[in-house]
Amino acid sequence: MSEKAASKVSLEKLVSLCQRRGFIFPSSDIYGGLSGCWDYGPVGIELKRNVKEAWWRAIVQERDDMLGLDTSILMNSKVWEASGHVTSFKDPLVECKNCHLRWKADDLTENKCPSCGGELTEERLFNTMFKTFIGPVEENASIVYLRPETAQGMFVNFPNALSTGRKRLPFGIAQQGKAFRNEITTGNFIFRSREFEIMEFEYFVKPGTDEKWFDYWVEERLKWYIRLSIDKKHLKLYPHPKEKLAHYARSTTDINYLFPHGWAELEGIANRTDFDLKQHSAASGKSMEYFDDETKEHYVPYIVEPSLGVDRAIMAFLCEAYDEEPDKDEIRVVLHFHPDLAPIKVAVLPLSRKENLTAFAKDIYTALKPCFTTQYDDTQSIGRRYRRQDELGTPYCVTIDFQSLEDNMATIRERDSMNQIRVPVAALKDTLVAKLAGEDLFILPEGGKIWKQE
Ligand code: ATP
Repeated sequence: MSEKAASKVSLEKLVSLCQRRGFIFPSSDIYGGLSGCWDYGPVGIELKRNVKEAWWRAIVQERDDMLGLDTSILMNSKVWEASGHVTSFKDPLVECKNCHLRWKADDLTENKCPSCGGELTEERLFNTMFKTFIGPVEENASIVYLRPETAQGMFVNFPNALSTGRKRLPFGIAQQGKAFRNEITTGNFIFRSREFEIMEFEYFVKPGTDEKWFDYWVEERLKWYIRLSIDKKHLKLYPHPKEKLAHYARSTTDINYLFPHGWAELEGIANRTDFDLKQHSAASGKSMEYFDDETKEHYVPYIVEPSLGVDRAIMAFLCEAYDEEPDKDEIRVVLHFHPDLAPIKVAVLPLSRKENLTAFAKDIYTALKPCFTTQYDDTQSIGRRYRRQDELGTPYCVTIDFQSLEDNMATIRERDSMNQIRVPVAALKDTLVAKLAGEDLFILPEGGKIWKQE
């Protein structure tokens, strides 16, 4: 089997599901979209929040050695001069003299336009940072850039973190936020956009211990994906050959994922040495040194940086969750999200729209809503509603039928197995909490019973 065919879902199917179910739409859709920009719909935003939350919890809240930060998108232009972005965040481009399309020179195998076969210009460097002006006058002195990564905000805050964070080395600074890159070629859905979100952290370590911490973080980051139900077989490490490393990096390893378009970078982990802090120290005149009170030395720490695109992570989680299963005469499309990532945790479904049933179901919905992201749905047949929730990746459906009015019990249907249990309404909330935390469906609360086994 080719690597491409091994992905569980084609790009077309993924895009269509995302649009049909309200995950992701093209930006400015009614005007024909805007290349490289996407909008998250009502379900997509829940998924996005959950992915960011899972990362924040694992990287910041569950650790003692990490500080969170939220720095501004616009920064003093001196930051981008010192970091090297103004001079080196550039791609060599060629332009077709006939149709004027621009191409990344590195991507071309022949010396003619891939679109029309036209003659190409010489290579020219193209800065991928978006430029704008601050204040009312559009002049050179007022140029600011939309940040292409969030890292610089953390480097320049290193002295603030040191003086207020009360941390000793090794420790990290983490943040999530929007980044902008005027990519020459966008595509493969949300894989490569011009506006996207990044979650990344800078882990400051004592020089000499950097390679040890680099290896540690590669392992930790791999474990994070696996914990959130990504199959190990769909992840591959790609250590960059030494001769291809960025000018600031001592080592870089990408975590690649098997996307529908093939293996591609999901996350990059770099040992950035002391390059960034030294650059900013030289340009600003401010010390970026750390005083090690054990060895009584002053030194500039080395930095290990794992950097991940939120949207790329979302795409990987969507691809991984996607499944098509034969179901009677039809195909069941289901998203097997890890419960922590599922946009909707529970759906409450009355069997019919009869007044007494909907009133009973709405009471249950109102009781569950403060505990989980819950959806109420009384349209269409129950079978179609289950299919809809399967496509949204909802782990559990709670069904209310006429018998519920008499025995005060409700049915819980599990997304992945389609098995069902029947539990007293009073035990619903606690049972759902336990199931969402991973408990087997057939472990029953008092008074509960197995209802349907597929
Ligand atoms: P690529 O080689 O794919 O262009 P990169 O090496 O330039 O990526 P980094 O600068 O290391 O990427 O960015 C860190 C992470 O941000 C990447 O691993 C990826 O997940 C994400 N990312 C980078 N560029 C984009 C983009 N244009 N759209 C969406 N996510 C992106």
